Amino acid sequence: MADVEKVVIIGSGPAGWTGAIYAARASLQPLVLAGDGLNRDRMPGGQLMWTSEVENFPGFAHGIDGKKMMGVLQQQAERFGTRVKAHYVLRVDLSKRPFTIWHANELSGDEEVVTTAQAIIISTGASANYLGLPSERQFENNGVSACAVCDGALPRFRNSPLVVVGGGDSAVEEATYLTKFASKVYLVHRREALRASRIMTQRALENEKIVPVWNTVLDEIVGTEAEGVTGVRTRNLQTQETGLIEARGMFAAIGHTPNTKFLAGQVELDDKNYVVLKDGGRSLTSVEGVFAAGDCADFTYRQAITAAGMGCRAALDAERFLAEKGVH
Ligand SMILES: Cc1cc2nc3c(=O)[nH]c(=O)nc-3n(C[C@H](O)[C@H](O)[C@H](O)COP(=O)(O)OP(=O)(O)OC[C@H]3O[C@@H](n4cnc5c(N)ncnc54)[C@H](O)[C@@H]3O)c2cc1C
Repeated sequence: MADVEKVVIIGSGPAGWTGAIYAARASLQPLVLAGDGLNRDRMPGGQLMWTSEVENFPGFAHGIDGKKMMGVLQQQAERFGTRVKAHYVLRVDLSKRPFTIWHANELSGDEEVVTTAQAIIISTGASANYLGLPSERQFENNGVSACAVCDGALPRFRNSPLVVVGGGDSAVEEATYLTKFASKVYLVHRREALRASRIMTQRALENEKIVPVWNTVLDEIVGTEAEGVTGVRTRNLQTQETGLIEARGMFAAIGHTPNTKFLAGQVELDDKNYVVLKDGGRSLTSVEGVFAAGDCADFTYRQAITAAGMGCRAALDAERFLAEKGVH
């Protein structure tokens, strides 16, 4: 077996790369297990690999393509000695230190590898849930989104009708946020009432730009390659009546799934499977020496810059932990 790693970073989104930059500059020679690309949620580079325009990450005055941005972050991490493996973590044993990590590239069929580490930073993100319609993928980045704060201000959505699907707090938040830009926001929900908190529901329903569409699901997103989304086909679940809402965008707001399955029983997760952070505002988890950063531990902000900030904190916490343990 290879030597024990000082710090292994699991995941290569903004949180993982920022953690790597800090850990590498602290001479910890981090190993990043970046994901193997077997499917969308395991893509090295993370969620921004699917985003054509990131306009709100500081440092890029004119915006930047998500893929390009993740390439730049990786280069910056590698410049200081970060090592990167396009591997996916299958399971971990965090019951004793050094911790054990089993990982592989299942896309290329590489054999499973076992790595041990004195410290681990978990930065595996959370995947946005989509409706699962084939037309949804077709119009991704062309009118379909899962993040109003990220995409709402794009020119394509301004002064146009938009559709938000969902009925919980995040759907109401997304719909309310989008009213800043849209001419009208249709809030399509499969039930007769929203699941969001009373105050948020009331605020949304009093907003003149928000039009609730109850007991309804989407059957298809419609549009053209050139124009992007032009509308959504709807079906009322009580009457089976179908309809068409004209809209320039569809925002799925039906929650996120943290990529933390491999941590079950190893580290404390909350009821939605997000990693629980200890000691207010730090990156400590229930296991000493295991730190978490980014969307896998944050259901509130879910932005590249907040994930990057958490990655920085996790690396600084890991560095302090290793120093205390005499690992240099
Ligand atoms: C459509 C869309 C557009 C967005 N646009 C913006 C925007 O414009 N601006 C903005 O600030 N934010 C935007 N976001 C949000 C932003 O992408 C996330 O907040 C950010 O990527 C979170 O970073 P992260 O490092 O926590 O996780 P992620 O970026 O999700 O990265 C997770 C990483 O973990 C890896 N991974 C997962 N499981 C494992 C495992 N078991 N083993 C190894 N690796 C694993 C993945 O392969 C990936 O590399 C957008 C999100 C979406 C969905």
